[in-house]
Amino acid sequence: MRTQRQVVDYALQRRALLAEVYSGRVGTMEVCDADPYLLRAAKFHGQPSNVTCPVCRKETLTHVSWVYGDELKHAAGSARTVEELARMATLFEEFSVYVVEVCRTCSWNHLVQSYVLGTRGLRSGKPRRRTAAE
Ligand SMILES: [Zn+2]
Repeated sequence: MRTQRQVVDYALQRRALLAEVYSGRVGTMEVCDADPYLLRAAKFHGQPSNVTCPVCRKETLTHVSWVYGDELKHAAGSARTVEELARMATLFEEFSVYVVEVCRTCSWNHLVQSYVLGTRGLRSGKPRRRTAAE
């Protein structure tokens, strides 16, 4: 998305936690604890990924994007589809997105990435090349 900025990747933390799980120092019960709210969000607002669940290896993970920010009012803390995020990025100046991966089979869940979206990103930062679609 054009206004995406302040991207933080949580791959290192994820790898460290999985190493603990594989070694048995952390039980799968502790990490496969997605609550019903997250599982429901995955079902209705999730984006399928091509990453196989690192714990049960039975299915591919679903990414759920949660939005936060004062501007969002009642929408803050809700899960949004990619299409909704694209629309919101044109309506609000600035809000944060937290992408969580979740396995709908074993309930493994972990933060994947966070970033900021919104029209404020259009004024600052590097100029970007426009595509025909824009
Ligand atoms: Zn799983």
